[in-house]
This record gives sequence, C-alpha cells and structure tokens, in this order.
Amino acid sequence: MMHAKQAGRNGFKFFSEEMNEEIKQKLILENDLKDAVKDNRFFNHYQPIVDIKTKTINGVELLMRWDNKGQLVSPALFIPIAEETGLIEKLTEQAMKRALIELAPILSNNPLFYISLNLSPKHILKANITERLLYILAKSQISPRQIRLEITESILLEDKFKAAKQLQNLKAAGFKLLLDDFGTGYSSLTYLSQFPIDVIKIDQSFVNSIGIDKDDESIIKTIYSLAENLELYCIAEGVETQEQMIFLANIGCHVLQGYYFAKPMSAKELRKNSCFEEILGLI
Ligand code: C2E
Ligand code: CA
Ligand code: CA
Repeated sequence: MMHAKQAGRNGFKFFSEEMNEEIKQKLILENDLKDAVKDNRFFNHYQPIVDIKTKTINGVELLMRWDNKGQLVSPALFIPIAEETGLIEKLTEQAMKRALIELAPILSNNPLFYISLNLSPKHILKANITERLLYILAKSQISPRQIRLEITESILLEDKFKAAKQLQNLKAAGFKLLLDDFGTGYSSLTYLSQFPIDVIKIDQSFVNSIGIDKDDESIIKTIYSLAENLELYCIAEGVETQEQMIFLANIGCHVLQGYYFAKPMSAKELRKNSCFEEILGLI
C-alpha cells in the first residue's frame, strides 16, 4: 500500500515477494536501531574542513556511524529510519555529547575551531531544540559559536514560518547556520534572504564535475559569486583531486572539504599530533 501511495494516489501496485523481503529487512533494521539507541552503540567520525588560503583546519563535520553487529551501516540508510521512528533527536544529542567530550582539547585550545552538526528537518521543527542544544553545551562549557548547524532545504519547504522562527531562535542563541547540499534542491534564492543562513555548502555533485562538465563549473562559479554578494561564507565539499582544489582556489572559494584532504576519521586519529600537519601539507 505504501509503495502504491508513494507512486501517486490513484495508482495500483502488485505486491511482490521482493517488497515483502524489503519490508522485512527494514523492520529488522528498525528494531536493531531502537536497541542501538538505547545502548548508545553509535560512534562519530569527523571530516576536517580546511582553509587553503590561511592554511588552517577551521573545523570538522560530524558524521555519524553505526556498527550493527559487526557491520557498518551507512548513515544514508539509518538516518531516514531514525527520522521515521522519532529516534533522530536522541541520536543527534548523543552524537553531540560524544563530540564535545572527544574533541574537548581541540575545542578549548582553538576558540575558533568548530563542529558542524547535521540536523534533521524533523528535529529543527521541535519546539525546544534551542534550549536542548544550549543545555548540552553548557554542561561542557563550550560556546554555541563553536557549533555550526547544517540544514537542508527540505526543512525550509516543510513549514516555512515555523522553520524561520526556529532558525532565528538558534541564530539568536549564537549558533551559525549552514545550508547543506546547496544547488541540488529547489535552491530558491528567496530562502537566502528569508532565513538567517550564514554559510552555504556547494554540493559535491558539482565539485565532482570539475574538469568534466562546463555547465557544472559555471554553476559553481555562480553559487560562489552569489554567496559573495550576499556576504555569506561558502564551503565546497567532496573535493577529491588537486585539479578540483585548484579550480576552486582560482574562483576564490578557499574553504574546502573532501577526500583529497582527509576522509572522515575517528577522534583518536584527528587528535594525533601529525594529523593537521599532514592535511596542510597537501595544499
Ligand atoms: P552529507 O551531510 O552531505 O555528508 C557528506 C557525505 O559525503 C558524507 O557521507 C562524507 O563521508 C561524504 N564525503 C566527504 N568527502 C567526500 C569526497 O571527497 N568524496 C565522496 N565521494 N564523498 C565524500 P556519509 O558520512 O556517508 O553521510 C551521508 C549522509 O548521511 C550525510 O550527507 C548526511 O546527510 C547524513 N548524516 C551523516 N551523519 C549525520 C548525522 O549525524 N545527522 C544527520 N541528520 N544526518 C547525518
Ligand atoms: Ca552535511
Ligand atoms: Ca552535503
């Protein structure tokens, strides 16, 4: 029934064995996820965000990982289930607390260093999100200025008024707001003036096409000058090659993230003395 509804209300679909299997797998995963949240069986990876102009590591994006019975499950698979089942808030709060503990030395030694946290649209619309996040931060004595919140456009589509209000509260509390995967969704330009966004992140699909697709290269240039004109910061993600880095540097986009510099890694790897040096050596 769900499949038929997803395909449009007036359609019909035959129920197949394959779908049966799919649903079974999803239910199993859902149950495993519930247990894992209860037992706090997730861990964090962090991917550095590098300023190639000033040669500094500005911060890291927190990327959640789940080891389910020895098998690593992709966040692209478990985040939607966590959203559907209402577990996403708890999962995000756990991840944030973990990050504040694991990265405490880096955060306190570098007051400008930040953690970029992905927030699910459902979570942002929760009434008490600002208070909850501030409460978690207060316990570890970290300022909201060291936290960026990554949101996607879907939030802005869901309930515009509520979203605007929530984002204004978060911003007033001192959080920086980042619009993720920019260029992939509706990217309505009015959003950028209606919502208190500080940073936009150019989606990796455009960065992938550097040197391959002239149209995508033009889109990157356009997004970058849009950001400049609106006085927004701009990050490009998914940088995998030196060629891509050079293209971005040439248009002035100098805050970059991607496998070329570093893959997402554990806090232990990030805290190694040589880690930052090795990354900066690649510029
Ligand atoms: P995203 O927010 O767009 O995160 C970027 C994804 O691109 C990450 O995948 C990262 O590992 C990957 N990536 C980074 N650099 C490169 C590169 O140079 N090349 C390629 N091919 N990929 C690169 P990951 O960790 O598998 O996460 C997938 C998605 O899951 C994220 O996409 C995000 O939407 C979601 N996600 C991950 N962690 C969280 C979380 O804590 N909360 C929420 N709400 N969503 C999360
Ligand atoms: Ca993100
Ligand atoms: Ca992204």
